[in-house]
Amino acid sequence: MALYDAIIIGGGFYGTAIACELTTRRGFSRVALLEREQKLLTRSSYNNQARIHNGYHYPRSFTTAYRSRVNLPSFVRDYPDAVKRDFTKLYAIARRNSNVTAKQFVRFCKDIGAKLEPAPQALSKLFEPRLIEAVFLVQEYAFDASVLAVQAAAELNRTGVEVRLGVHVNSIRTETSRLAVDCAQIATGVSETLTARTVFNCTYSGLNQFSGDFPGTRTRLKQEITEMALMEPPAALAGLGVTVMDGPFFSMMPFPPRKLHTLSHVRYTPHLHWLDQPGIDPYQRLENYECVTRVDRMVRDVARYLPAVLDARYVDSLFEVKTVLVKNEGDDGRPILFEKHPELPGCYSILGGKIDNIYDCLEKLDKEIL
Ligand SMILES: Cc1cc2nc3c(=O)[nH]c(=O)nc-3n(C[C@H](O)[C@H](O)[C@H](O)COP(=O)(O)OP(=O)(O)OC[C@H]3O[C@@H](n4cnc5c(N)ncnc54)[C@H](O)[C@@H]3O)c2cc1C
Repeated sequence: MALYDAIIIGGGFYGTAIACELTTRRGFSRVALLEREQKLLTRSSYNNQARIHNGYHYPRSFTTAYRSRVNLPSFVRDYPDAVKRDFTKLYAIARRNSNVTAKQFVRFCKDIGAKLEPAPQALSKLFEPRLIEAVFLVQEYAFDASVLAVQAAAELNRTGVEVRLGVHVNSIRTETSRLAVDCAQIATGVSETLTARTVFNCTYSGLNQFSGDFPGTRTRLKQEITEMALMEPPAALAGLGVTVMDGPFFSMMPFPPRKLHTLSHVRYTPHLHWLDQPGIDPYQRLENYECVTRVDRMVRDVARYLPAVLDARYVDSLFEVKTVLVKNEGDDGRPILFEKHPELPGCYSILGGKIDNIYDCLEKLDKEIL
């Protein structure tokens, strides 16, 4: 039976960053990272809208907006090669059905110290004035998950983390004074048990899918099958990112790994949702789901606000399970979930909510663990 100081389950952005943190700054020498896919950062860390949040998106959650403002500079410092800045970002405020007016949005940005100015006429005229109250130029970037994946792999290698790919973890148990993690090679079915004093469950959608002594998270989770359409934008939108606030509207953002734009729509991006529970494996549910695109409906509605989208070319869609905390459904906030399980001492479950929240998790590691 292999013995480790720590085992990380899940090789997304969070699992890889925490594994590196343990080896580089916290004196863990034998660390194993277990990931069911064949490559790192291929699930939600890749299949997302790539927005590095800077607060603007969260007028209903001051804390999330404020933490985004604090975390963005750290992300840009630590992952400069993955940051795409060479595009113009616009936030437009809808006249009807928006939870925020233009005046309130200006005040909110002032409160969180986020830069904002009226968009030049050449850009604001892209929007339908009967439906859009105001258009603002803001400072928001995108990240390239494929660059993050390369950086993560290099860092894990440099710091001596043992990475095992194509391995599915089935259960977490206590065994004498250690934690036992039972896993199986997906390709061969060969199973193995690894033990460690500390286990980090960084499996995002899979957070509650373990048997053994794993008690589940106390925080309730909602799972959503989501679709983001990948579009080749027309010249008028090519250098732009656009978000319409704050209600049943849309975002169109550069997606650096494919050099395309993602199009998401609050009404059409979520296809299906359910309350998370053990035994309903979200990955399996997505695999069994017939992923029929809703791009036509997205484009039809978006064109009412931004007519140029009619000239965009649909390429394909990213379908992924999105996991959010039930308690934030109303305010759309994205706090971290960081739970220690008293029934399973040494085991922690972590869900970041958005990519820059890694810094909130590392802060929590300081307080809770070492
Ligand atoms: C549609 C969508 C849009 C989003 N937009 C943004 C955005 O614009 N900006 C932003 O900051 N954030 C966004 N997010 C959130 C962001 O993607 C996540 O917060 C972040 O990627 C989570 O990283 P992670 O490492 O926790 O999860 P993941 O990258 O999903 O990693 C978890 C890993 O665990 C593995 N795993 C699961 N179960 C097991 C098991 N039993 N055994 C072994 N391995 C297992 C999975 O294969 C996976 O690789 C979005 C998410 C979605 C889905």
